Amino acid sequence: MTFTALTSSSVSTYKLYINGKWEQSKSGQAIDIQSPYLYEAIGKVQAITKEEVDEAIHFAQKAQKEWADISLQERAKYLYKWADELVNMQDEIAEVIKKEVGKSYKDAKSEVVRTADFIRYTVEEALHIHGESMRGDSFPGGSQSKIAIIQRVPLGVVLAIPPFNYPVNLAAAKLAPALMAGNAVIFKPATQGAISGTKMIEALHKAEFPKGLVNLVTGRGSVIGDYLVEHKGINMISFTGGTNTGVNLAKKASMVPLVLELGGKDPGIVREDADLQEAAKHIISGAFSYSGQRCTAIKRVLVHESVANELIGILKEEIEKLSVGSPEDGSMVVPLIDDQSANFVQGLIDDAIKKGATLVTGNKRERNLVYPTLLDHVTEDMRVAWEEPFGPVLPVIRVSSDEEAINIANESEFGLQASVFTKDINKAFAIANKIETGSVQINGRTERGPDHFPFIGVKGSGMGAQGIRKSIESMTREKVTVLNLAE
Ligand code: NAP
Repeated sequence: MTFTALTSSSVSTYKLYINGKWEQSKSGQAIDIQSPYLYEAIGKVQAITKEEVDEAIHFAQKAQKEWADISLQERAKYLYKWADELVNMQDEIAEVIKKEVGKSYKDAKSEVVRTADFIRYTVEEALHIHGESMRGDSFPGGSQSKIAIIQRVPLGVVLAIPPFNYPVNLAAAKLAPALMAGNAVIFKPATQGAISGTKMIEALHKAEFPKGLVNLVTGRGSVIGDYLVEHKGINMISFTGGTNTGVNLAKKASMVPLVLELGGKDPGIVREDADLQEAAKHIISGAFSYSGQRCTAIKRVLVHESVANELIGILKEEIEKLSVGSPEDGSMVVPLIDDQSANFVQGLIDDAIKKGATLVTGNKRERNLVYPTLLDHVTEDMRVAWEEPFGPVLPVIRVSSDEEAINIANESEFGLQASVFTKDINKAFAIANKIETGSVQINGRTERGPDHFPFIGVKGSGMGAQGIRKSIESMTREKVTVLNLAE
């Protein structure tokens, strides 16, 4: 039996999870969650009140004190159980992810399994993080009798805010390190993604974590976001989402430690010596998987003019073979999360064509389903050269040298990742060293995994680092205890 939802008529209303209990909000209001491709409500989530946020944070603070005192091995047992419960629930959760964010069942299932792997790896990493000690006499005038013992201690209550596109994985990527590090969590899922997030918490509930340690607060970010971010009871914020939202949040957060993973405009740089078939394969899966609704999607191609025609020919042929349609059919290109997102992508395409870009393929639309679109001869005066579409449109900018590619890559306000395609490893490194992004992929598509690699956004793409070890470190601080021995 599940207590997460009330079912009346055909849709369920999912509850808040506060202090280990599933509750309806006293606001009496619930938010309809529309499926991006079924075009109907698939459920409702609670619109939490400020008083309920206060309560959730109060219980989290209380639970955190006891949690910080229990051993790492004990914490590990709860997290392993949570991972097992997620695996047990993988079919059910994948079905919800599919309907809620319009992702194929196969991708949704691998998101859940990857999440369980993420949790297990986090446990193992946390078990192997050790502090250090320092001798006093390594500094001039210092004494051997002084020894500093440096340990990592939890920050307190972590506010975890993920985006819609990986509603389980990107949420657990915050919860698991926070918990292993000894923190409590206030989890505010993206509203579109909140049912998937609730299911993930249902698995956590089955693992019987101490009450109040993890609390699920649902409601629109525009309504409760600021209240959560500015709340005095929050000790750290881990946020993944759009750049505008992140920048506003950072202003509000004041002195609370923050990790921000934001938008991107990842370039795929194709040199004249690249294996074009290989490069095209990576560019297409990078640009069009899940309709480009990935932070690390390849969002522009900077290709040497001498191989541009050949690359465009291969890209066109392969793009026209992509499956387009419903997530129910396992399509790669699926309807975007909502009409507004599709309108935005259409606006970028229209602007580019109006300013002289060549439409190679695509520019077809059915409601919020935008067909994969390839634009050639994109120039720097076009919006699509700079703005993040979060949709299936790929602009190609022809360049005449590596320097020009590097300059255009770096002119972007974003700095998440970049790909360089070349057979010359020396050139690859020379370019990678000059690119202003958190990571550079050589001869591969831009992507977040594997999850234990550091994942870093610079400039408008973020602040701080994720990646399992980095996330644990960001959710702890160093504490120094100095031992003064009798001389
Ligand atoms: P979004 O609109 O910025 O929303 C992200 C989260 O912020 C949601 O949970 C949202 O809640 C919440 N939020 C909204 N207003 C808030 C406020 N005032 N205070 C606190 N939280 C607030 O982003 P999205 O559309 O879900 O995701 C797409 C964006 O995320 C893209 O730009 C993409 O590149 C980026 N992204 C980045 C990474 C990365 O690791 N770098 C990974 C994935 C996605 P509501 O849903 O209730 O509004």
